[in-house]
Amino acid sequence: MNCKNHPEREAVYFCQKTKQWFCPECGSRCLSPKAYCKFRLDCVIWIQEHERDRAPEKDSVNHTSE
Ligand SMILES: [Zn+2]
Repeated sequence: MNCKNHPEREAVYFCQKTKQWFCPECGSRCLSPKAYCKFRLDCVIWIQEHERDRAPEKDSVNHTSE
């Protein structure tokens, strides 16, 4: 399958709600984040979008060697 918006690109994300495929660029955001979606808990687009948002402190892990 190829991206809905970019027919020349290979799609990697599938929106189960709209049943459409998207490339990494188009699929990096949920199309309608405010709307109810019964597939959300299982949606790779939704999951990776939120993991990106709540991971800014990745490098601030303190090593307590005492
Ligand atoms: Zn695309």
